[in-house]
Amino acid sequence: MNLFLLGLPGAGKGTQAARIAETYGIPHISTGDMFRAAMKNGTPLGKEAKSYMDAGNLVPDEVTNGIVKERLAEPDAQNGFLLDGYPRTLNQANALKEALSSSGRSLDAVLYIKVNKDILMERLTGRFICATCGATYHKLFNPPKVEGTCDVCGGHDFYQREDDKPETVEKRIDVNEAQTEELAAYYEETGIVKEINGEQDPDSVFEDIRNILK
Ligand code: ADP
Ligand code: AMP
Repeated sequence: MNLFLLGLPGAGKGTQAARIAETYGIPHISTGDMFRAAMKNGTPLGKEAKSYMDAGNLVPDEVTNGIVKERLAEPDAQNGFLLDGYPRTLNQANALKEALSSSGRSLDAVLYIKVNKDILMERLTGRFICATCGATYHKLFNPPKVEGTCDVCGGHDFYQREDDKPETVEKRIDVNEAQTEELAAYYEETGIVKEINGEQDPDSVFEDIRNILK
């Protein structure tokens, strides 16, 4: 299954991606995670991405298209993948189409998780992440079962994303809003968009996704 998770920042893409990847055995490919890993490792890609990310802007298409094309050529992506946070522009959607068709592939479904803007603000400013395994939590909506201990790996170190501070969050939602609508319309024409109500609790959202993928 070749899937793309579409939705504004905070819609719950990462939360659902972890479940989808595990349940269906496909790699979770998140451009945001790839950029953060490059930043952490201090690579040239990380240095270039940092200035855009810290300001809440998108990284240029040429850079982003290149890293995704390489990732999709890796062996573990040949029997399905789950894209999260890519494509974000029409230019990226076209680059993806080309990269996939050159290897005889195409997207099977676009899972569009829809959530109202006010809720997104609340979700992003309360988000925190396990520093050891990357699992995502929320201080009110999705805390670890045991306070201070990651449910997934038992780690005790957590961090807040630099771009989840209130000043940047609003900008990121605005930067992404028009483009998300445009992308939804683009894929709507191909008949593969499945809309999901992302304002339910995470288990119910996942249940809807499983029913769609049946
Ligand atoms: P995205 O990857 O789309 O930016 P995340 O999956 O990181 O979004 O979710 C953003 C924040 O909202 C996180 O703190 C997460 O724990 C929380 N969250 C995710 N899904 C839900 C949900 N269905 N209800 C309430 N909070 C949620
Ligand atoms: P995310 O983890 O998806 O919320 O992305 C965090 C940040 O990484 C975004 O605000 C952008 O600066 C950058 N980024 C992630 N994916 C893309 C993309 N497809 N195109 C451009 N920039 C991206």
